[in-house]
Amino acid sequence: MSEGLLVVLSGPSGAGKGTLRPGLLAAFPNLRFCISATTRPPRRNETHGQSYLFWTRQQFERVRDAGGLLEWAEYVGNLYGTPREPVEQLLAEGRDVLLEKEMQGAGQLKEAFPQGVFIFVLPPSVAELKRRIAGRDTESPAEQLRRLQKATAELESLPDYHYDYVVVNDRLEDALDRIRAIIVAEHCRISRQAPGWVDAFCRRSEAT
Ligand code: 5GP
Repeated sequence: MSEGLLVVLSGPSGAGKGTLRPGLLAAFPNLRFCISATTRPPRRNETHGQSYLFWTRQQFERVRDAGGLLEWAEYVGNLYGTPREPVEQLLAEGRDVLLEKEMQGAGQLKEAFPQGVFIFVLPPSVAELKRRIAGRDTESPAEQLRRLQKATAELESLPDYHYDYVVVNDRLEDALDRIRAIIVAEHCRISRQAPGWVDAFCRRSEAT
């Protein structure tokens, strides 16, 4: 059995990574989303174990220092990280794994999983990004401003990172189409076929 495909969606807060998730999970039955841990307090619509694992800073640092995170980053004052075990286990079982990460974390994952596919999700424009962040009623105006400043800095640093694809999230269905196409194409790569696949194909062909 070959290892599953790691799909990392990255991009500034407000680009709509989370909005794309249900459409991707529905399209690919073998795809699993792995939740992150964070020290950020839950928003009122969020629950522990579903949106995030909401950890104290102490808990987070303990797990991180014991090597329990695949990557981690500080984002506008809070820590975010990917628990190692579920991702490694799912990939070893041949499942595809979907992750949503800000850019530093995506960079660390790219080093650990060069065979993964790294997709940068862009908002249609900076003006629209501002509108989306300012339109959220889950964050204070000060927090919205910090996120907006962070998003602008992230966009400026994009050329320093090595993403494989960029997808503009203008209309949700169009963005989903493009990401679905990327995942299908990645699965067709010769380099991703299981070892000995040509022999297996020939034996199967002779038998029929
Ligand atoms: P939010 O606070 O809006 O939920 O997330 C802030 C940013 O952190 C988003 O860009 C989100 O994709 C990213 N993020 C969520 N989980 C993780 C994680 O485990 N690691 C990293 N590096 N970023 C994450």
